[in-house]
Amino acid sequence: MNSEFQAQLLVVEDEPKVAAFIKKGLQTQSYAVEVAMTGEQAKNLLTSSRFDLIILDVNLPDITGLELAEYIRARPSQVPILMLTALDTVADKLLGFEAGADDYLAKPFDFMELLARVKVLLRRSAVVQQPEQILRVADLELDLHERVARRNGQTIALTAREYTLLEYLMRNAGRVVSRVDIAEQVWDVGFDTGTNVIDVYVSYLRAKIDKNSPTKLIHTLIGMGYVIKEK
Ligand code: CA
Repeated sequence: MNSEFQAQLLVVEDEPKVAAFIKKGLQTQSYAVEVAMTGEQAKNLLTSSRFDLIILDVNLPDITGLELAEYIRARPSQVPILMLTALDTVADKLLGFEAGADDYLAKPFDFMELLARVKVLLRRSAVVQQPEQILRVADLELDLHERVARRNGQTIALTAREYTLLEYLMRNAGRVVSRVDIAEQVWDVGFDTGTNVIDVYVSYLRAKIDKNSPTKLIHTLIGMGYVIKEK
């Protein structure tokens, strides 16, 4: 059925039985499924992987599904979100839609109903052709589909690591990120921040992004970290 590509689904659900039930069912339908048991795990997966659809339980142990939906929309991401909840009231639905959910399913549900909703949401987002996903800071653009950076319309060749670092900075545009944050998010390790690997990579990025432009976008805050912003 998914002859052209295998859709990647993220299931955020803290009840192991429910999570396993959904995962198994979707896998038999040829979807690739990742499970996060907490909001924090979901955020980590969202940083490291791309998903075509997210199934999101409203009641999570650390943050609410509503908060997580808002977080996803603020990234920004248009990934379809299907909310799951124990309650089925109009007020709940409205809250879910306001937070950015595309559809809503009350527990307990029949798997075939879940599957039908998943198919509709995936088809709809395929038709919409995922409106261009581009991060922008001033005249710097990062095209998340093509995985390419442009400054003032000029393509900038980046290595995979430079790209990941730039993406992280741009997703947090205007916000200071520490070397520890960068180590965890870009290198996926909490390595000894005494090493200057991060500073070296930031200087590589600067040379490519800022060197030929009068407006510098990557700023160093001594003792705090880095921030990408217009001024
Ligand atoms: Ca739950």
